[in-house]
Amino acid sequence: MTDTPRPSRDEAEAAIRTLLRWAGEDPGREGLQDTPGRVARAYEEWFGGYGIEPETLLTTTFSEVEGYDEIVLLRDIRIESHCEHHMAPILGRAHVAYLPRRRVVGISKLARVVEAYAKRFQIQERLTAQIANTIDRVLEPHGVAVVIDAEHQCMTTRGVHQPGVSMVTSHMLGVFRDNPATRAELLAMIGDRQRR
Ligand SMILES: [Zn+2]
Repeated sequence: MTDTPRPSRDEAEAAIRTLLRWAGEDPGREGLQDTPGRVARAYEEWFGGYGIEPETLLTTTFSEVEGYDEIVLLRDIRIESHCEHHMAPILGRAHVAYLPRRRVVGISKLARVVEAYAKRFQIQERLTAQIANTIDRVLEPHGVAVVIDAEHQCMTTRGVHQPGVSMVTSHMLGVFRDNPATRAELLAMIGDRQRR
């Protein structure tokens, strides 16, 4: 984060009018008059992650798990992020797994952690690592695995124009990194879904 003060809403809307002019538009024409305000509101939604401290999402845990000591996997979490190089959407799916040590969290909380980091300017590699490291730090499980499969619109709609190409990243910690059998079990659990 930088120390420069956050610009005002008016300054943000003026910047959007500048971009419209730079693209060749007349920001004063009827159809565009409310566009800067709409874009500013959309930014509040797309980049709402800056206002969330992801670790706080994982503070409520449950310890009565009857000795459950197998993989917990949340599959196909929708990823809606933006690349920090082109400010273009990154759309895809995340699979988040952990092997609990005594404590588990509500599954919706894992999805909220994904969302808190996705709703920022990102590169997919860092997004993947941040999600895994946060779960690892707060829950201290035996292992964490995060796999993200996403399309980058900066690549599909411009530049090399490669629609249908997705990028897969993974970040494995603990037993998922160190134990090939556990990692293979996880990849089979994820793969089941891919083939359906
Ligand atoms: Zn990009």
